[in-house]
Amino acid sequence: MENIQRQTDFPCSGCAACAAICPRGAIRLEPDDSGLLTARVNETLCIDCGLCINVCDRFSDEIRGRDLRESPLYAVQSTDAVTIKNCSSGGLAHELAVWTLRRGGKVVGAVYDTQTDRVRHETVCSEAGIAALDGSKYLQSDPQEAFGKAIAEAKRDPSVSFTVFGTPCQIAGLAKACEITKVRGRFILVEIFCHGVPPYGIWENQLERMRKKLKADRFDSVRFRYKKDDWHSYCIRADAGNKTFYGSREREPFWHIYFENVLLGDACMTCRLRKEISSADLRIGDYWGRRYQNRSDGVSAAFALTDTGRAAMEELLRSGAVTALDPSSPEEMLRAQNMAGYANEAAHRRAMELIKNGAPLKKAVRAYRRMEPAKRRLKRAMLRLSYLLPGGVRARLKRARSAGPRV
Ligand SMILES: Cc1cc2nc3c(=O)[nH]c(=O)nc-3n(C[C@H](O)[C@H](O)[C@H](O)COP(=O)(O)OP(=O)(O)OC[C@H]3O[C@@H](n4cnc5c(N)ncnc54)[C@H](O)[C@@H]3O)c2cc1C
Repeated sequence: MENIQRQTDFPCSGCAACAAICPRGAIRLEPDDSGLLTARVNETLCIDCGLCINVCDRFSDEIRGRDLRESPLYAVQSTDAVTIKNCSSGGLAHELAVWTLRRGGKVVGAVYDTQTDRVRHETVCSEAGIAALDGSKYLQSDPQEAFGKAIAEAKRDPSVSFTVFGTPCQIAGLAKACEITKVRGRFILVEIFCHGVPPYGIWENQLERMRKKLKADRFDSVRFRYKKDDWHSYCIRADAGNKTFYGSREREPFWHIYFENVLLGDACMTCRLRKEISSADLRIGDYWGRRYQNRSDGVSAAFALTDTGRAAMEELLRSGAVTALDPSSPEEMLRAQNMAGYANEAAHRRAMELIKNGAPLKKAVRAYRRMEPAKRRLKRAMLRLSYLLPGGVRARLKRARSAGPRV
């Protein structure tokens, strides 16, 4: 097995486009030493057809697609309060999934597997299956089986259509694979704004904490953005039997490390695909920023990058599945998102090296925190102190100070 990483400067994101398109099944995603999936080629099966290179964005000098800043922006909420509560922002992804199934399509999205404590993409064909897709899972999802099957089915059966949800890297790869196989017209591609995904070791550490607290090896369900207090609070909820664990952004090491933007995947640190240019039909996210900072239920933002994306949004509005709120300009919305690259490359490399060599997570975190500039360390210390304040006071201070969280 060879890692196709050697041929390009950009690290593999594990988008699975190469695996989905390979005519010989010679490519598989496998976990690297940090637990993140990357593409590996079985050279004995490879026939050097070059399709994997054509489909991989790492071999392109520029990212092709449309510009979010020139695309219509929507601010929406599901009209069903329970859906909003169960979803991470305004429940738009859920309503898009319902709409797809009702017009005879299939939905591909990410589910959390409580048996393996990993995330993977699955195809959903009935409304009962949508609940498993609801909610963001802040881990890398394995899309290889689902994407491969969707493309193969679309090639075989001209009547089948799909709506696929994924991170910008997954959707960019899938868009290219669909173009090459001439099935792009039967896919609605929906990407989420993406902060990045951490190595699985960070999640293992969080799982250990939750297992100890709940005195259980397995969980019945795990949610990453349970709206315990409100939309802005990041709260992990894990249930085991009649016990429930709630893990807030203020307390949990998982969230601390995630938001420090150092221990994200190698590909996330230099990702070009989560920026303004996109080949998706829709880019959806939390409508962060001043405009909706006082809302506690959740508002979804959607950029319609293509006519297909726009038609889907208009139909959802017409059917009454979602309500339109008042959107800002694209620039204002994007200002509240983390669109820049991550500047802490040296700290990232050092911490990842430790993780990949099997060092304990604590050691890797200490190592990168020590490498950070004094200003950043001071800022973090003040943030920690602010966690001692009552939640309401902290929220008011935050609203007064800023345009809301950036993830
Ligand atoms: C890793 C990650 C980083 C994110 N970063 C940002 C950000 O920086 N800014 C922002 O505004 N929003 C971000 N989001 C998206 C945000 O959390 C919401 O998903 C989005 O606002 C849509 O909300 P919703 O209520 O419509 O759908 P949700 O209920 O959140 O459903 C989201 C859809 O995304 C899919 N999905 C969930 N987890 C994953 C995953 N791990 N990989 C691929 N697909 C997945 C599901 O299939 C589902 O259909 C991120 C999400 C993830 C998973």
